[in-house]
Amino acid sequence: MSIARLADLSDAAACPLVVLKVGSSLLVGPDGTPRRKWLASMASDIAAARARGQQVVVVSSGAIAMGAARLKMDKGGRASLADAQAAAAVGQIALAGLWSDALQAEGLEAAQLLVTLDDLEERRRYLNAAATLRRLLAAGAVPVVNENDSVATEEIRFGDNDRLAARVAQAADASAVMLLSDVDGLFDRDPANPEAQLVPIISEIGPELRAAAASTSNSDVGTGGMVSKLEAADIAQRAGIALAIVNGTYEAPISRAIAGDTGSLFLPLRSEDAKRSWLGGRLQLAGTLTVDEGCVVALRDGASLLATGIIAAEGTFQRGDVVAVRDGLGQIAKGLVEYSSDECQRIQGRKTSEQSELLGYVPRSAVIHRDHLVLL
Ligand code: GLU
Repeated sequence: MSIARLADLSDAAACPLVVLKVGSSLLVGPDGTPRRKWLASMASDIAAARARGQQVVVVSSGAIAMGAARLKMDKGGRASLADAQAAAAVGQIALAGLWSDALQAEGLEAAQLLVTLDDLEERRRYLNAAATLRRLLAAGAVPVVNENDSVATEEIRFGDNDRLAARVAQAADASAVMLLSDVDGLFDRDPANPEAQLVPIISEIGPELRAAAASTSNSDVGTGGMVSKLEAADIAQRAGIALAIVNGTYEAPISRAIAGDTGSLFLPLRSEDAKRSWLGGRLQLAGTLTVDEGCVVALRDGASLLATGIIAAEGTFQRGDVVAVRDGLGQIAKGLVEYSSDECQRIQGRKTSEQSELLGYVPRSAVIHRDHLVLL
């Protein structure tokens, strides 16, 4: 059974595991105080999902907003990275306590998981996080995940919990992600425009939708916005995971969205194997290989990437890093590279038979093996 409409997200057979992402503005009022009544209704929705036989992982924002209110910081604690980090340190304790209390009132145990970008980008750490999630779910807990904002620096942070939720869904092997936001879903143009229409089902994200998302303004307390939601949808779809954007501002937001069938649902595109889907969702790329037209055709036919097709190797990377592959027009793939950037520069454009001498050892079968390559 697969997910084709919003109602399927409450069906344990179609959706055995769902990731619920809660935006800051839902949990924290404009004055920085927690919206407890709303949270209690959310916890009861989670308990209902569990009673239906579904597993639930929560990705919760709100640490920065809540901490900023307690520390009386201006600009919601986002005036500088240092402010955000300090605000998050204070707010995260409060946030975890809120979730723990709300879930406990429903007889559920909350488990706090704080991750940085690298925890999900580096393969070994990713597998470790995935194992922890699996164990927590098997033990009956509800993982409540957030970015570890207090230690994540500018270069190594997700910054928004939308993409974090999509990556967590991959790690947890979820069937769907619901982004609970303060808007009804994705509109075909700026929602401020009276002609704007909600787009209920999206199979493929085209340039029009990207433009519409870019024209949508941001909410005040979070960082999400439509652009990061679309990026999250892209990661999820490629990994064979459905993603819904629904309005979470009402009480019992999950049951409400499902009963009213209101929101935008991005259908899962294809289910790549686990390693490829992890690769496809990678956000940090260590370098770029530019390839010629013949190579692009071969890659699209399922071949591995060979040195002879490479025109240029940019960036500094090591064997095992993930790099972008591009042609004259733009990026076409991502893959795990078998050589360092230095070695790639030495063997680019050369046939396999010429490579031993240039490398000083017997060359590997490819620069990127087809099993470690994901076409975009
Ligand atoms: N991790 C941030 C927080 O807890 C939220 C990021 C976002 O707004 O998506 O405050």
